[in-house]
Formats: sequence, C-alpha cells, structure tokens
Amino acid sequence: MSDVVYLDHNATTPVDPEVLDSMLPFLKQNYGNASSAYRLGKTTRLALDQARQELAQLLRCQPEHLIFTGNGTEANNAVFASVLDTDPDRQHIITTAVEHSAIIKHGEYLAKRGIEITFLPVDRNGQVDLDRLAKAIRSDTILVSIMWANNETGVISDIPAIAELCQQKNVLFHTDAVQAVGKAEVYPSELPIHFLSISGHKLYAPKGVGALYVRPRTRFTPYLHGGSQEFNKRAGTENVASIVGLGTAARLATENLPLSVQAMQHLRDHFEKTLARELENVEINGHPQQRLANTSNLSFAGIDGEAALMLLDDRGICCSAGSACTTGSLKPSHVLSAMGLTTEQARSSLRFSLGKNTTQSDIDHALQKIVEVVTKLRSLQPKMAPSNDSSLRSLAAVGARAE
Ligand code: PLP
Repeated sequence: MSDVVYLDHNATTPVDPEVLDSMLPFLKQNYGNASSAYRLGKTTRLALDQARQELAQLLRCQPEHLIFTGNGTEANNAVFASVLDTDPDRQHIITTAVEHSAIIKHGEYLAKRGIEITFLPVDRNGQVDLDRLAKAIRSDTILVSIMWANNETGVISDIPAIAELCQQKNVLFHTDAVQAVGKAEVYPSELPIHFLSISGHKLYAPKGVGALYVRPRTRFTPYLHGGSQEFNKRAGTENVASIVGLGTAARLATENLPLSVQAMQHLRDHFEKTLARELENVEINGHPQQRLANTSNLSFAGIDGEAALMLLDDRGICCSAGSACTTGSLKPSHVLSAMGLTTEQARSSLRFSLGKNTTQSDIDHALQKIVEVVTKLRSLQPKMAPSNDSSLRSLAAVGARAE
C-alpha cells in the first residue's frame, strides 16, 4: 500500500507504466510527422494505425470509424456542432440534466444562441424514463445525447433501449461513454449508436487525448478545420505519443476487462458492506445495481462532504465531493440535485471510485479513515437528524440484500 490511497479514478487515472513505455519512443527518436512521406513519418503513421486498431478491438468496431480527438470534451462538442450542420429545419437536441459539463455547458451555450435544448429529468436512481424521452422527441429533433455511465454516481443508462427508441424515431443518437469505456462492455457498432465519446485519461492513458466513434454512413462535419488528418474529420497534427498511449491502454483494457471489473466489484461491495456495518445513516446515491463496478457515491447524513474531503486528504485518502470539475464551487452537485437529493444530502456526499490497481489493503485502510472522519464530523454536530426519507436506500438494507 502506498502512502496515498487513490479512490478518485473517475476524476482521472494514473498512466499505466506499460502505456508510458509505449509512448516514450514517440517523444524521443520517433518524432516524425505522420503525414511525411519519408521513413520517419511512416513509422509514426504505422503507430497511429496500430493505436486505432487497438482501440477498435476494445470497442469491437472498425478502426476507420474512430477519430482521435484532443479529449472527451472535444469529442462531445464535435458531435453537437456536426449534427446542427445536418439540417437547418432540425435544430432541437435532447440530453439529460445529469450529463457531464462537457455536454451541459455546451448545451447552455447553444441555447443562448437560439438552439433548442431539452434537458430531461432523471428519477431517484439517476436514470431517464423512456416514455418521457419518447414524448420529448419532436419532428425537428436531430439528436439525443445520453451518457453511458455517470461520472459522479456510476449509474448506467439503458443504452440499448434508448438507442433503439432513437432509431425508431429517426433521430441521431450520441452517448458520452467517457466513464464506461474500460470499465464496462461498450460495443457501439452492435447497437444503433451514431456517435460515442471516449477519453484517454479515464483508462490509464494520458490526459489530453480522446476519440470519437462515428457510425458508417453518418454525416459528420469537422469541428476543427485545417489539414486532412483523421480521414478529413479532425484537422491538426496528431498527438502521436498520447494516441499511442491510448492504443496501449485500450489493448490492456481488452485483455483485462472482465477480471478487473470483477475485482473492483468485489472490493466495492466489501467497502459498502463494511461502511453499512460500521456507520449509521449512509445512503447509496444512484441505482444500487445498474452502476459501474468501481463507483460508490454515498451520502453520510450530518456531515459536510467538503470538510470530510479535507480531513481524508490529511489522512492520505483521495476521493471526491461531487465531480472533480465542480470541486471548489459551493453549489451542490447538479447530478445529485437532479436525482432529487436535498442540498444537505448532496453536500454530505462523497464519491469513491476504485481502479484496476486498488487492493484490499487500500480499501481496508480507507475504510478505517472514513469511519474515523465521519464519526469525528458527526460528533461535532449537536444533533443529527436520522434520514426518514423512505425513498432513499439505506446502505445497510442494500448490504443485507447483497449478503
Ligand atoms: N464526459 C464525462 C462523463 C466525463 O467524466 C469527463 C471527464 O471528467 C468528460 C466527459 C470530459 O473528458 P475530458 O476530461 O477528456 O475532456
């Protein structure tokens, strides 16, 4: 166990040593431009092709249906920009209230410029109601964009049903799968998915590289204009080393996915069961089962999540109160609020997200510190009102069912 127990893998992951090794030659001797005709350029071109192949294997799609981007945010933004260029009479986009800011903020930006954006609500589990989605689709709707897995709660959307519905209604479907790729089976070509976003730094590749799956025969207008890189779909000299890193990370994920998911699930269940035993009034935020295996978002009634975060940091435990991107803002998490949590419940929440290298002793050490911190913070509160909201699932109850 290292000095720090890192339980914030949904914020970012460390670069896998094998990923780093594969990148280094492209930061040293293999510095050619992939568009150059001499051997130095061809070496780079081959490496890009191989990385695309490796990512395609993870996603079970054809390599030519993937374009590398600067990050997940760019992949998401590119989709909105492209679909709005498809048909001037269809300028309505549907998304949800629990998306990452890379969708929400872009949607709000577009709304200010006259594009109609519907932000669908979610239920207490953090999921979208299909009937509601069906009703929201109009004749001028061009795109539905719903995330595969939520970054804060890990809640998984019913992507097959949503994609099917969009196909029936003849609208394009995009899914932000940044949190799902590498943690769940994500195979876009097996479903009627038109666009799917990926980010390297969530699966042990470096920050600043992502990818976008574009279904064959789907019209795509580039977001960045310039050179003819990425099949004329994304201009700019390729970030070769990072793309190579993403390829290696994808290969490792393909090789290890079932085992690492199983191991994370086992540790996460142990984590939640132990907290249920040791502490009262702890609630799981999000669907108890339809969640990523690595994510545990919990409300600890009576504590301030930000204070807990600091005390845990002092004890070498890294976790998150709300998503990393909103840390520092005093507003409660928009995801938890959209799920119907009160401001107080949202503020008492912490997200723990495990990684492929998290060990049992990491978890046991973190558990000891979490119990210590929560007990301390609660002791400073004169009276802690027990949660009497029956719609919230007590962690103890979920734990008991899972035994
Ligand atoms: N979408 C989701 C669900 C995310 O969790 C994130 C990052 O936290 C992003 C998009 C943005 O990805 P990137 O950091 O690569 O821009």
